[in-house]
Amino acid sequence: MIISRCPFCGLSVAKIQAVPMDNNVDTSYSLYCTHCHSYGPTASSEEFAITAWNTRTISDQEMDALRHRDLERAEDSYNKFSSWVG
Ligand SMILES: [Zn+2]
Repeated sequence: MIISRCPFCGLSVAKIQAVPMDNNVDTSYSLYCTHCHSYGPTASSEEFAITAWNTRTISDQEMDALRHRDLERAEDSYNKFSSWVG
């Protein structure tokens, strides 16, 4: 199965990890990004975990953080542009 890029940093470096369940009998799986250390949802099989990671939605809070970073980048390029014309 193909693992999608990380929704946070955009790199294809996600790895699957086994997570022991509370009952210490069953195992669940989740993906995590080895670059930015974000985690995907836990699932009952590796396949489900990958599917969950690939379809992971970004929460409003996370989206705000991304927007904020974009804004900083936008201001950066604006400032550079201003200094060229100034
Ligand atoms: Zn990442």
